[in-house]
Order: sequence, then structure tokens, then C-alpha cells
Amino acid sequence: MKFNTKTIHGGQKPDKAYGAVMMPIYQTSTYAQRSPGDHKGYEYSRTHNPTRTALENALASIENGNYGLAFASGLAAIDAVLKLFKSGDEVISTNDLYGGTYRLFTKVFEDFGIKFHFVGMNDITNVEAYINQNTKLIWVETPTNPMMNIVDIKAVAHIAKQNKLLLAVDNTFATPYLQQPLALGADIVMHSATKYIGGHSDLVMGGLVVNDKELADKLYFIQNASGAISSPMDSFLALRGIKTLHVRMQRHCENGKAVAEYLKTHPKVEKVYWPGFEDHPNHLIAKTQMNDFGGMLSFVTKGDNYEQTVKIIENLKIFTLAESLGGVESLAGHPASMTHASIPKEERKKIGIVDSLIRLSIGIEDVDDLIADLEQALGK
Ligand SMILES: *Cc1c(COP(=O)(O)O)cnc(C)c1O
Repeated sequence: MKFNTKTIHGGQKPDKAYGAVMMPIYQTSTYAQRSPGDHKGYEYSRTHNPTRTALENALASIENGNYGLAFASGLAAIDAVLKLFKSGDEVISTNDLYGGTYRLFTKVFEDFGIKFHFVGMNDITNVEAYINQNTKLIWVETPTNPMMNIVDIKAVAHIAKQNKLLLAVDNTFATPYLQQPLALGADIVMHSATKYIGGHSDLVMGGLVVNDKELADKLYFIQNASGAISSPMDSFLALRGIKTLHVRMQRHCENGKAVAEYLKTHPKVEKVYWPGFEDHPNHLIAKTQMNDFGGMLSFVTKGDNYEQTVKIIENLKIFTLAESLGGVESLAGHPASMTHASIPKEERKKIGIVDSLIRLSIGIEDVDDLIADLEQALGK
């Protein structure tokens, strides 16, 4: 089955009870047993729920993996991965990481004795330099937020294999439409399904996909033991979202390219961060490991003026100023005052998050309207 068919049929069969074509929302906590232990595979909904099972199978199918797991949020999924480890273990992670992941690593798991090293993975030797006998996991995010850096998954996977480490890839920005980390050598794929997988800004959810049975069993154990599962209703919404993932992503990519090219020629724009440009430092890796370049981009205006940037964002009419990304509607964000406000200004500057940086999640509206909106906002 090809990807565009898998999004609609992968792991999804008509419901056994009445043949419902869409998996129903099994809004139940428990299941009747005929005799103690004699049941139809479902006992209690923290452990298993038919709507969640359908979603987990669909997630595994679109990521070309064997086992899928759905969680209450992206961070709950990451939390489950970190619970594979114990005090004294070490993790090497990309340095420009989603803020919530960084907070979970440094403010929660560091207190439990896990040690984290945050390194720039543009240069792969940075990873090797931190490997020791306690290292257990490499955590990669690509493309990164908001600077759109690209990490070579295959190269990191090679190092992970050589040193018998697990490699996890946060595939939230790319989605399996653009990039399939398991095929590139990763052991775990993680999603904030809140973003493109759900696709309609109407749920919060996380997902994991793995190939190895033993690893899957450990994660299912943690999922049930810790209990941060996705609800039947949210599982239904995510399943519905997955069915249009390929058509949405195609339009996100087309619109993203058109907006990136428009901004690049605008006299007030200093720089556009989008991996589809040939002068993007990791363009060749992006071209090799991704099928297209996605709908996320960031840009800075000339003069790097904070007030002027706030004005531009306030003047946008179709783009909504909001956190999050990956929905059908276009969103604009100001990392310096929103997602990255807690980082001191000088530190922010070092990684490129200047005051005039604006991050855009390009939706699937008519691209002419998106460009006209940016034109009027930048012109004022
Ligand atoms: C949003 C996001 C997360 C966290 O997911 P939640 O669903 O908000 O818990 C993790 N990684 C990336 C790249 C994200 O964008």
C-alpha cells in the first residue's frame, strides 16, 4: 500500500460489531466479561480501548512501523520514552529543541538522576564526543523550531547503532508524509499529534511508533502503568485527521514554498529560514531525507526592531497570532516574546532568535490571500 492509501486504510478496518466504516467512539471505561478472564480482548480503557487501538494501528501504518502508541499529549509520549531509563543513564539531545521537551528533560528527569547533553548536531562529531558507557539514548528533532535546522537522521542512526544506543526522532514538524525516521534507522518516532496529525487545532495528543517487539512491550507497559493515554474522543478526531494528512501536507508544502519565495524577495525582509532554499545550510540533507520542505518557516525583518515586528504581527488579518502549528489555518508566532521569552536575550540571539524573528505555520487557505495579508502587514 502506498502512503496516500495508508492514511485512509492503513490499520483501519470496519468495526466488527456492526460494520461501521468509521471506527466508533467507544466512550466506555470497562467491558463486560462472560466469566472471569473471558472477554473480547478489552478489560479496562486505560489498558486498551478499541478507538485508541484503531488510531495506534493507523499511526504505525503511516510511519511504516510495527507498533503504535497514543498518549494524552506529545509531552506524555516523550515522558513515556524517558521512563525506559534509570538514574545514572545519559541522553544526548539536539540543542535547539522544542521548549517543552527541554523543560521536561531538565526540570523533571534531571531530578530523577538522568543526565542530558544538548549539542548542535550539524556537526555529527559533537554527538560522538559525549558518548560514554552510561549513554542510552540520542534524541533528535528535525526540522527544528523555530530556526528550521535539519539533522542528518541516517548519520546519527549510524552512530547510535555502532554504540548500541536508542535513537528517537521527534517527527512533529515533518510528519511521515515528508520523512520516515524508522526507515532512516531510528528506533522510536515521536509525534505531537496535536499538530499536523490531528491537523485541525482541536485536540492535544502524542504518539510513538517503534518496530522492535521488546521495545514496544516496554512502552506499552509504561503507557498502562503511568496512564497518560489518549481519550476515545481524541483518538477518533486524530483518526479522522490522518485520513486527509496527505492532501493537507501537499497544500501546506505548496503554500509554504510560495510564501517563502515571496518573503525572500520582499525589500523589508532580511532573511527567510526555510529548508527548501538552496542556500539553507542543510538543504542537501533536507532534499535527501525529506520528500518536500513543509509548511513551517521563519523570517527576520531588516533593522531587527521589536516594536516594528509586534506591529507587523498585529496587522495580520488572516494569520492568527497563536502558539502551536500544523492546523489548516495559518498562524503567526513571535518566539522572542512567546515560546522563547524565558531565554535571556543574549542567549536567544546566539541561536538566531532575534527580536524581529517571526515564525509562520502556513495553512491551506488560498495562497494569494496569505501573500496579500503579509504584503499589507509588512507595508504598514
Ligand atoms: C508541540 C510540540 C511538542 C509537545 O507536544 P504537546 O502535544 O504540546 O504535548 C513536542 N515537540 C514538538 C516539535 C512540538 O511542536
